[in-house]
Amino acid sequence: MRRTPSGKAHLGQRSRNKVRDDAYSFLECSAEKANLPDEGRFAMKLEGGCQCGDVRYAVEGEPEHVALCHCADCRKSSGAPTVAWAAFKWPEFTLTSGKPSIYNSSGSAMRHFCPRCGTGILYANEEYLPGLVDLQVATLDDPDALPPQAHIQVAERVGWMQHLDKLPEFERYPG
Ligand SMILES: [Zn+2]
Ligand SMILES: [Zn+2]
Repeated sequence: MRRTPSGKAHLGQRSRNKVRDDAYSFLECSAEKANLPDEGRFAMKLEGGCQCGDVRYAVEGEPEHVALCHCADCRKSSGAPTVAWAAFKWPEFTLTSGKPSIYNSSGSAMRHFCPRCGTGILYANEEYLPGLVDLQVATLDDPDALPPQAHIQVAERVGWMQHLDKLPEFERYPG
């Protein structure tokens, strides 16, 4: 799946942790590039955004890969046991409103999130995923559009995440 050394792309190492708010000029460049014609490209246009609606984006293209990541870094960042990611090329991504804040969660990992409501939007790592933007699939208006193809980083998976299919299910809260 990931064309990077396993255990590195989303690995949780507590180093150089800091919030960066000043690095969004490159997104304006990517928006310009996204308007360039690219004949023959698979055209899947999707839109998404954060919970409060301040940050909105569009993405058009074919994802390089779609995966559920179980690494500790994603877990802490999201406050959830796993995160679904879809990797696109940066020029395929357009920020249509708002301006995410950026948190350097480990190594060269940059996590972009809404500064108002906190929703994680995307992940970038120029060292291990050069040229790619990893979108959080759950922020899409239609998350069903990009089903995950694999579990990754399961070496760090929470134990009970392995047997979720054995749990009872309820349409709503159990009465
Ligand atoms: Zn991860
Ligand atoms: Zn928001």
